[in-house]
Amino acid sequence: MLGGRPLRSACVRSFASQAPRSPHRPWPNPTPLAQLRSTAARSPFCSPRRAPLAHRKLHAETLKTEKLSPNQHRLIFLVILTGTLVIGGDLIYFTFYHEPVAATLTPEDFRRFKLAEVFPVTHDTSLFRFTANLPQADSPAGIPVPSHVVVKDHTCQVARAYTPVTYARSHFDLLVKKYENGSVSRFLHDTPVGDFVEMRGPIVTLPYEANSVADIGMIAGGTGITPMYQLIKRILRDPSDKTRVTLIFANRTPADLLLFNELEILAAAKPERLRVIYTFDSAGGAIMSDMQSKPYSIGLIDKTIITKHLPPPELGREAAVLVCGPDGLVKHVAGAKPNEGDQGPLGGLLKELGYEARQVFKF
Ligand SMILES: Cc1cc2nc3c(=O)[nH]c(=O)nc-3n(C[C@H](O)[C@H](O)[C@H](O)COP(=O)(O)OP(=O)(O)OC[C@H]3O[C@@H](n4cnc5c(N)ncnc54)[C@H](O)[C@@H]3O)c2cc1C
Repeated sequence: MLGGRPLRSACVRSFASQAPRSPHRPWPNPTPLAQLRSTAARSPFCSPRRAPLAHRKLHAETLKTEKLSPNQHRLIFLVILTGTLVIGGDLIYFTFYHEPVAATLTPEDFRRFKLAEVFPVTHDTSLFRFTANLPQADSPAGIPVPSHVVVKDHTCQVARAYTPVTYARSHFDLLVKKYENGSVSRFLHDTPVGDFVEMRGPIVTLPYEANSVADIGMIAGGTGITPMYQLIKRILRDPSDKTRVTLIFANRTPADLLLFNELEILAAAKPERLRVIYTFDSAGGAIMSDMQSKPYSIGLIDKTIITKHLPPPELGREAAVLVCGPDGLVKHVAGAKPNEGDQGPLGGLLKELGYEARQVFKF
């Protein structure tokens, strides 16, 4: 008995008696009962109230010696203080100062991207650089091109598509024209640098395969240049892609021209693969001095300019014409595009010139 409870010596005995014995290594003698008793009495789980008097005294002595010295108190206080300061500091840092890891784009759900910089390009168009963590563009596991992202104005839950002109590892750039009465374009232009904007993507606009056609003609108006620019860069960067591209780029005036330097650099590097022809609704004052040596025309895009520069419809499967721009330009050139997922019937100048619907794509 210990403290009024029977010791389970029977169990100890029966376990010892059942244990296999080796002739070389004799099984140790079972712990003597007396030793078990004194061990149990010293055990911290043993209640001193139930223990014999001698053991209770011993327990009291032990408690006395376990009292903390002032130095130990100070040490514990310091440890608690340090812990509190470290945890509190971390909380303040992560709440107010920590820069969240840049997000990556996913087509499925909206994520927040930080507006890192804004570069004004023309009187109504700016380039918006967003910090991101992206895979290599054009690589097999990377960002597909041509593709767009969907930008949400979280203040009114309206979303619009925009085609990044750059997908880099650490950022992507949107070239956005501001419509004074527009929703999302105005929201983007009013967003201060450092704020976050919700976006999802990339969403493939046109599945493109290298060398699927020999000649691509492009007709772009204003910010409609963005998917064309993406595709041109992809084609020219890929050494296995031998496709030739001719771009007719329409703007209201030379002052509205977008990506002029970028296009000129690409065309100068591979003149046999890329030609750019500029058209302006009106000269709008002096034509930029840079334009003097470039092929350009004044007036709306017409049959003459298309026939002169774009691959002819007779090339059949070897020719494609891509069109992107304001609704008026798309309708004038290729017939209206009713909505996002619907190309609508081919119409306009391209139809009159004999192109087939399968040769034409409206972004
Ligand atoms: C695949 C794709 C890629 C695109 N890429 C780009 C890009 O790279 N860059 C770019 O700048 N744009 C791009 N766009 C266009 C862009 O998605 C938006 O349509 C554009 O920015 C206008 O959107 P918003 O919300 O600012 O204007 P909205 O609110 O849609 O208004 C657009 C225009 O319509 C007028 N309007 C609005 N409501 C009315 C009304 N009730 N009655 C009459 N007029 C009205 C506005 O005044 C404005 O002029 C792309 C479009 C698509 C489909």
